[in-house]
Amino acid sequence: MTPRVVPVCRPALPLAAELLPYLQEIDARRHYTNRGTLVQRLEGRLGALFGRGPDVVRSASSGTAALELAILVHAGEAQADRPLALVPAFTFAATALAAERCGYRPHLVDVDPETWAVDPRSLARHPLIERAGVVLSVAPYGVLPEVRALEGLQDRTGVPVVLDAAAAFEAILEVPEAISDRVPIALSFHATKAFSTGEGGAVLWDQPEGQGRVVQAANFGFLGSRAARVRGTNAKMSEYHAAVGLAMLDGLPGRRAAWARVVALWRGLAQGRDLAGRLHLPPRLSSAYALLEADGPATMRRMEARLRSRRVETRRWYEGGLHLQPHFRRLGRDPLPVTEDLSQRLLGLPMAHDLARGDIAHVLDGLAEAAVAVRLGSR
Ligand SMILES: *Cc1c(COP(=O)(O)O)cnc(C)c1O
Repeated sequence: MTPRVVPVCRPALPLAAELLPYLQEIDARRHYTNRGTLVQRLEGRLGALFGRGPDVVRSASSGTAALELAILVHAGEAQADRPLALVPAFTFAATALAAERCGYRPHLVDVDPETWAVDPRSLARHPLIERAGVVLSVAPYGVLPEVRALEGLQDRTGVPVVLDAAAAFEAILEVPEAISDRVPIALSFHATKAFSTGEGGAVLWDQPEGQGRVVQAANFGFLGSRAARVRGTNAKMSEYHAAVGLAMLDGLPGRRAAWARVVALWRGLAQGRDLAGRLHLPPRLSSAYALLEADGPATMRRMEARLRSRRVETRRWYEGGLHLQPHFRRLGRDPLPVTEDLSQRLLGLPMAHDLARGDIAHVLDGLAEAAVAVRLGSR
C-alpha cells in the first residue's frame, strides 16, 4: 500500500452541478458584479440565517478586504496623533496587514491564556491607548470573544474597535446576538474556512448607515454616481463568488451534520487516551480546526515529527506569532509570553467534513506514541 498523506485541511466547496442553476441565472442576466442579484440574495440569506435583516451583512471580495473596509469606515485612516493600531500577536498575518493598509502602525499586544484573545479590560488601561486610532480584536480559530466587552472598551476609551472574526461563521450562527450596532465584525469566506465562497468575506454590523459606507468604500468611494467621494477600493464580491456561497448555503444543513459526525469521531476515539496534551475541537473552535494543546514546546515538536513520519500534515496556523514574521519584526510590541507559549504548544491537526475514522485513529496513534516517548524521556 502506498502511504497516503492525511492533509491538515481538505476543503470541499459545492460541485459544478450544484452551481449550475446559479451560473445559468448569471448567463441570463448578464450582470456579473457590482452588487448583483446573487450577491444581494446571499447577503439576505445570511442575514436571515443570523435571525436578522438583510442589512446586517455586506459582502466583500475577501476576509482581509472586509476587515480593511470595516477599519476604514469605522475608525478611518490613521491620523498623526493616533498612528497606532493595537493588534494581537496571536493571529493570522491578515489582521495586521489590514491595519497597515489603512495607514496604521500595528503595535502588537498579548492575548489571554484562556480566551486566546485580547483582554478588553487591560487594553483600556494600555499605556499606548491614547496613541491608538483603532483596536483590533481577533476570534482566534473561530473562538468568538465577548463582543459586549469590546463595546465597553470602545465606550470607555473612545477608540474604535473592529473584530476580526474571520473564522467565526459558526460561532455567529450560535450567538447571532454578537452582531453589534457598534463594533463591526469581519468574516472570511476563504476556501479553508467552514463557510466559503472560494474567496470572499463580509462585514457584519447592525448599523445601516455604516453598512452604506462599507458599500461605498468597497466600490471606489462611489455613491449614487461615478464620482469618488471618499477613500475607497474595489472590494466587491462578484456574482460568481456569490453563486458558490448560495450553493454552499443550500448544502449547509448536511455539511453541519457531517462536521458534527467528524467531531464526534475525534471525541470518541480520543476518549481516555494519554495524548500529553489537550484536544480542542468544535463547537468551541470553528469546524475548520482541530488543535492539540501540547503539554510543552518539546512535546509539540515531538508530535510534529511523529506525525510527519506517519505522513500526517500538521500546521502552526498562526506561525510563531506575528512578531516573528519577517515583515512584522520591526513593529513595536508588548512582552508576548502568552502568544509565544500558545504558538509553541497549539498544533493544528487534520480536519475535514469527510475526514475518515481511520485517518483520525492514525493521527491519534501518532500523538499517543509521541506522548509515550515524552513520558519515557527518550531522545
Ligand atoms: C482567514 C483569516 C483571515 C483572512 O481572510 P481571507 O478571506 O483569506 O482574506 C484573517 N484573519 C484571520 C484570523 C483568519 O483566520
